[in-house]
Amino acid sequence: MSQSQSPHVGPATLAIHGQKQRDAFGSPHMPIYDTTTFAYPDTAALLEVTEGRRRGPLYSRYGQNPTLYALEETLAALEDAAAAWAFSSGMAAISTLFLSHGQRGIACLGEVYGGTLSLLDQQLPELGIETHFLPEGHAPDTLERLLESGVRLVYLETPTNPTLRLIDITAVAEQAHRHGALVAVDGTFATPINQRPLALGADIVVHSATKYLGGHSDLTAGAAMGSSKLLDPLWRWRQNLGSALSPQMASLLSRSLRTLPLRMQRHNASAQTIAEALQDNPAIERVLYPGLDSHPDHALAKRQMFGFGGMLTLEIAGGHHAATAVADRLELFALAPSLGGAESLVTQPCTTSHADLTAEERARRGIADSMLRLSVGLEDVEDLLDDIHQALAPLITDRC
Ligand code: PLP
Repeated sequence: MSQSQSPHVGPATLAIHGQKQRDAFGSPHMPIYDTTTFAYPDTAALLEVTEGRRRGPLYSRYGQNPTLYALEETLAALEDAAAAWAFSSGMAAISTLFLSHGQRGIACLGEVYGGTLSLLDQQLPELGIETHFLPEGHAPDTLERLLESGVRLVYLETPTNPTLRLIDITAVAEQAHRHGALVAVDGTFATPINQRPLALGADIVVHSATKYLGGHSDLTAGAAMGSSKLLDPLWRWRQNLGSALSPQMASLLSRSLRTLPLRMQRHNASAQTIAEALQDNPAIERVLYPGLDSHPDHALAKRQMFGFGGMLTLEIAGGHHAATAVADRLELFALAPSLGGAESLVTQPCTTSHADLTAEERARRGIADSMLRLSVGLEDVEDLLDDIHQALAPLITDRC
């Protein structure tokens, strides 16, 4: 592994032993401290914490809570980061990142999650924050001009949703750093098991922990990881926005992280099997999966990622209505937004995540109305393939 702080320790070990602190009773899993405040024997002891000389518990809304600290130690260890903050959702982490580091303008590269897009496009400009959008495959000159004009935060997701294109984190970081700008990466799709943006040159990583990090579709959470210097301003914003994760959710997320490496191995393997099995299916025009030789960014995926992930996108032959019919016929793949859970899910971007865009705008962004995005879960892969084959079968019969 390419971690600098823990060169001899693998991600499965970090997921279990990343939490360094134990409570007074030696509990191997930090219990839920649901108290809102923590008492000190005297003022001198209290001041050690309030003046930042010791990381002690104090007030849960500030995130100064042992259950949150334990989670954050594991999150930081997994990204090989000096610091991690846990948030009440992925959007809480992302909006706090923008408020902390986006005041001098934000350049957003490629496709990003719809909530992030609307924050950048609508709310942040209302606060006077300049935001710029560079489409997938933009020329580096366009970014260069923005950086020259003073933009100081570059933001991206990789792999992107739903086309699963990749952005070269190292190249973007080198370009941004030449101008003194920061690079922040939403690592939700890849997780720290499949990709480590900080090791590739990024400055901050954010996650919707609601997805793979949580992994069971039963919690909403977010995280930001990076150096202490860059994360300190996020801490202040989180404190005053009141968006720290609750101790209950922190405990559930800590439990989930212990199996993250195992779960990701299975997500990766099953998605690869399904992608390969569907490549030559006559009911499918295109399989988009970074682990396939045919994927336009496969070479970059091999350089930048340790695994290719559990998300794959299919373009169904026959267009929009054929794709809707396939989604409706799937039985093991539940028709639901979100991703990264134990159970497999399917969405049709033109009816869910990208429904707000016009058909022309979707086409311009390479998002076909015949696309189905699959979040491949932890079920037996043979059963998932059987389900996909039965859902596609009427299309093949129609074509004969
Ligand atoms: N980032 C990505 C890539 C997402 O897919 C999502 C949600 O779907 C988010 C961020 C927002 O996360 P949350 O729903 O936890 O706020």
